[in-house]
Amino acid sequence: MTSPASGAGSAGLDVFARRLPKVEMHCHLPGAIPVETYLDISRANGIPVRSTAGEDPYAFTSFEDFLELYGMICAVLRTRADFERAVYAALERQTRTGNVRYAELFFSPTDHPSVPYATQVDGLVDGIRAAEHDLGIVARLIPSINRTLPAAAAVEMVEEVVAYRRDEVLGIGMDNNEALGPPARFVEAYRMAGRHGLKRTAHAGERGSAEEVAVTIDELGVDRIDHGYGILNDPELVKRAVDRGLPFTGCWTVSLIQMGRPVLGRMIEAGLRVSINSDDPAVIPTDLGREFHGVASTENLDRQALVQCVMNGVEATWLDDSDRRALRGRFESEIHALQAELPGE
Ligand SMILES: [Zn+2]
Repeated sequence: MTSPASGAGSAGLDVFARRLPKVEMHCHLPGAIPVETYLDISRANGIPVRSTAGEDPYAFTSFEDFLELYGMICAVLRTRADFERAVYAALERQTRTGNVRYAELFFSPTDHPSVPYATQVDGLVDGIRAAEHDLGIVARLIPSINRTLPAAAAVEMVEEVVAYRRDEVLGIGMDNNEALGPPARFVEAYRMAGRHGLKRTAHAGERGSAEEVAVTIDELGVDRIDHGYGILNDPELVKRAVDRGLPFTGCWTVSLIQMGRPVLGRMIEAGLRVSINSDDPAVIPTDLGREFHGVASTENLDRQALVQCVMNGVEATWLDDSDRRALRGRFESEIHALQAELPGE
């Protein structure tokens, strides 16, 4: 992976980037489980991992290989307690490494076919409540459609989400391999989610397709877009997204891998409401502090631009208005104090 440049003053920027309070809205639970937790749960359940002793269990060689690994990580989670432990460990890592205060986490119900949806959600809710109690981080959940499955499987997943409502589940997402799952076939699932008051987001344009982003906006009716880098190839679509204030959850490391060049700075320059997120932080591996510093050092963003990305994230959360206002107020005063403590170069 490309390492952040270390120009003059970058150490100060690194500290500032790490210490900023943050929200995280584009993070997949299976990819956020610390490797030690993954190994412990796999051992306890008698499920072998694909690496041999001494090798990194999270090593991968391509996007397709990553998706295979992602499926293997999902497969070790079997019980309510496994989901509780996994999400608690993921949130502990997010808090410690990225100063994350609020997270909306994706999980993949259909990637755990032997575990009932209710068991998954109950375990996740147990874990996020424990993390809030112990660590102060608040987390909510986004069940995500695996876009490589048929449309009917997505509808079935949304039916389960609707039938087993928990307050912590705020909306739905869509992820996995966009080369295999065109978004238009999930219109029915997205309409159903909207009818039942669920928010909607979707991965689109991760590998540069503007058309993916357009279909996701126009046909799935999303409230925000995950990645969305392909929008830069369609200036008219950029203008529509800017006019509407549509939020984009960007991920610095993944954008470099998928697009082969820095794109988040260009999206921000174009006026898009971009937040910075970590995607699959434990597997990549990265963390949100590193993602913020990476964007700043490779795309020439200054401290104020980083703060704007933080606040873009706060505004894009699916909290209700009063909770979002409270979060905004806390972040503004904490960032003000941080700027006073660490005067910029
Ligand atoms: Zn993602």
